[in-house]
Amino acid sequence: MSPAIITPREVSNSEAITLAECQRKWLYQYHPGYHLEAVTGNQSFDRGTAVHTILESFFRAYMETYDYDFSVNIAMQKHALMIVEAMGTDMGKVIADLHLPIKQYFINERERILTWEILGVELLLRAPLAFGLEAVGKIDLLIRIKRGPFKGETIPVDHKTCYNFWSEAELEVNSQGPLYTYLVKHNFPDRVVQRVFFNNVRWRIVADKAEMSKIQVLDVPKIYRQNILANHERLSVQVANWHDLPVEDARERATRSPNPYVCKTCTMRKLCRAELLGQDTKSLVANEYRPNSYGYNNPEEN
Ligand code: SF4
Repeated sequence: MSPAIITPREVSNSEAITLAECQRKWLYQYHPGYHLEAVTGNQSFDRGTAVHTILESFFRAYMETYDYDFSVNIAMQKHALMIVEAMGTDMGKVIADLHLPIKQYFINERERILTWEILGVELLLRAPLAFGLEAVGKIDLLIRIKRGPFKGETIPVDHKTCYNFWSEAELEVNSQGPLYTYLVKHNFPDRVVQRVFFNNVRWRIVADKAEMSKIQVLDVPKIYRQNILANHERLSVQVANWHDLPVEDARERATRSPNPYVCKTCTMRKLCRAELLGQDTKSLVANEYRPNSYGYNNPEEN
């Protein structure tokens, strides 16, 4: 595609990766004529959202007070409230089942978190890319290490809710971490930023309680960050061009990548299949999907 960009655009790692994964999935999730998310039936999304919310309330309280036990209480109260609010819905049991994993996370990671200065929680950061585009990302947590390994470094932290922790192979070619270091470096130019923490809460109960959580460290050498950034720029150009297509053209052109590894976790699978079967998708969309929160207009308004 030509790098000629008409409208400046912000492109997150998730959006760029989604387009690289499956154009059709990108169309459903990110084109302004669709911009949908599934209402139910996505337990891993609901679980991840719940854990993020609980950790957000913990780290906000901790940033204010630096009182660990008080902040844990705030987070557990938040969790209890979420359980009550979700009672009787599909999400209810999923959220209630997080009680032990969350409790264990706060026990396991206490000593490590005590070495962190909290610089920000849920920070939306932007940084320029080529062709008038911008990289954008929400950093779950930004910390500065007060003592021990990596002392003095500023580190973006990404919360993960997982069944298993990432393997070395999965960490080896990661794009999210390097992009986060670019966003942080651009917005905090005087800081030393050379790695990312993936803050894993394992939601399934395992016998060894120490294995219920893990903070995985990804080193990001400068050359690696630069190459990932160049890749993100190339994908962002494609995203911007796709975004500017009228919905009919985008629907006509967006190919599917029916790969079992991608499709099995795709929350757009029902819509994708209904279209493949030539069905009228209006009622499916109305009942099972809703506009997502990526900042586009409601499709009804387009
Ligand atoms: S189900 Fe598979 S082919 Fe269809 S949109 Fe999702 S990832 Fe693409």
